[in-house]
Parts: sequence; structure tokens; C-alpha cells
Amino acid sequence: MGLKILCIVGVGHSGSTLLGNMLDRGDCQCLGELHQFPKGLLGTPHECSCGQLVTDCLHWDAVSREWRSRSPDLDVAEHSRIAHELGQRALAALNGSVALPDGGEILRSCCEVDALYEAAASTAGVDTLVDSSKHVGRAALLAERSRHEVCLIHLIRDPRGVAWSHRKPRPPKPGESESKSRSRSVRKTIHRWNRDNALAGRLVMTTNRPALSLRYEDLVRKPDASLARLETELDLDLSSARAAVQARQPLISDHAVAGNTGVRRHPVTELVLDEKWRQGLSVLERLFCAVMVNRRLKRRFDY
Ligand SMILES: [Zn+2]
Repeated sequence: MGLKILCIVGVGHSGSTLLGNMLDRGDCQCLGELHQFPKGLLGTPHECSCGQLVTDCLHWDAVSREWRSRSPDLDVAEHSRIAHELGQRALAALNGSVALPDGGEILRSCCEVDALYEAAASTAGVDTLVDSSKHVGRAALLAERSRHEVCLIHLIRDPRGVAWSHRKPRPPKPGESESKSRSRSVRKTIHRWNRDNALAGRLVMTTNRPALSLRYEDLVRKPDASLARLETELDLDLSSARAAVQARQPLISDHAVAGNTGVRRHPVTELVLDEKWRQGLSVLERLFCAVMVNRRLKRRFDY
């Protein structure tokens, strides 16, 4: 079963939920952050875009049963642990410090992810999937080893917008206490932004798979031109997605794992650039961004 897998790579809070929701039309289903699905099965409370926890969602229950039937030796805890370790090693390999992981463990892990894609596609009756996991190492391994047609979309957003989105107070996830802070410092976010966008940019330029980089700001300001670019460069038919955006239909995925809960609760119809960082970040934080953001990336992506 040949599937097309659109893997979004980059850092969190760069607009991947919005892009996934735009693409979730016709023969294409957005799975959300699929790497969180096995963790959801193991008890980590991850929400589906239908509003249920993944473990309570009937759609994902059907996917889970199909996945297990396609992978009779599957041990979800072991799969989750190994996939995480391999993803981290692949990240180091992209950084040039070690060789890309190889051997039986990687083959088995990628086969299990492929079987999960097949289970998700057959349950939804589609042949194109969007995987918004974003982890660059994981995407590098899938680009190398998947039996499906993997396409990479490096989604990048103004680092100040990403920093504010991580820094602002956010409601706790399901199962978390009200007092738990999910806020991340600007320093930590910029460090991650520099590293992961540099590696994602390198992956896009070196992979043999179809791949491109896309700015969040262009996606919001010029959605039709951005979708047309994806169509051309990744050989897709996005006519229903483009029509939905033009008709200002609500952009929402039926059953996507994790992602931005705000977008889920208030489906977007009018695309508006989120620039709340202009009011949210302090002068010192903006100065920190100006000094510490990778200059090459800033030039290349015009930030
Ligand atoms: Zn659901």
C-alpha cells in the first residue's frame, strides 16, 4: 500500500496545527503529532481534536487495533522507547557528531511507524497523511527508511512569535494540575529554535525525498500561493484545501493527536497573523532574540 506522508518538521508553536488543518481535506488526513500516539496508549493524557482523550476516541481505538493486527510482535512501550532513542541519535547524526543509526533496530522501528501510517490511512480511507510530529531526527530516519513516499515540510516562524507562544501562561493539559507551569523561557526556546531549524533546513537540502521550507508568515498572508507551492513541489492535489481556504470554511481536523488546543476550540475561518509577541515580550527579551537568533537563519528566512 503506497501512501504519501507529509512530515512537518521544525519547532513547536510554528503553525503546524494550522497547516495540518488546512491540508485535512478530501483524500488527505491530518494525524497531528503522531509520535505522541504510542505515549497516549501508554497512559500519557493526549487529546484528540474531537475533544476526547486519545484513549477514549473511537477513531484512534480502531487505528490502534489495526496497528496491532499489522504488527503482531508490537510492544508499544518498547516501540516508544526505541523510537525516541533513535530520533535523538538521528538528531546528533544530522549535527555531524555521529553516523545515522543503522541496523535491525532502526528497520523494525521504521516498519512499525509505517504500519501505523497504514493503519491510520485504512481506518480513514485516505492515501495521504499529514504527520505534524515535527521532530527532525525522527523525520530524517523516516525519509531514509520508510517504504512510503515521505515528503518533508520544514515550517518556520519568526523566533519572537515562537518564543512568546512558549513563554505566555497556558492552561494545563488534561490530567495536569492547575498550578503546573507550562511556560518555557525565551532563552531555552531560542536555543531550540536555532538548533532545530538549522537541522531541519539541512535535512531539506540534503534529503533525496521531496522537501521544502515554508514560512508560517507566508502561509497566513498568502495561503493560496503557499498551498500552490506545496502542490507543485510535493506533487499533490490540494484543490479541496485551496477551495476551503478561499471559501473561509472552518479549518479543523476530525481526529488529530495533540497540537494547539486553542486552534481546536476556536476553528480558524479568517487567517490572521499571530503577532502577539509584539505586546507580550519585554524589551530585554526582544533584545535577547535580536542578539541570540542564528544570523544565517535570520537572513535566509528574512526575520
Ligand atoms: Zn478523536
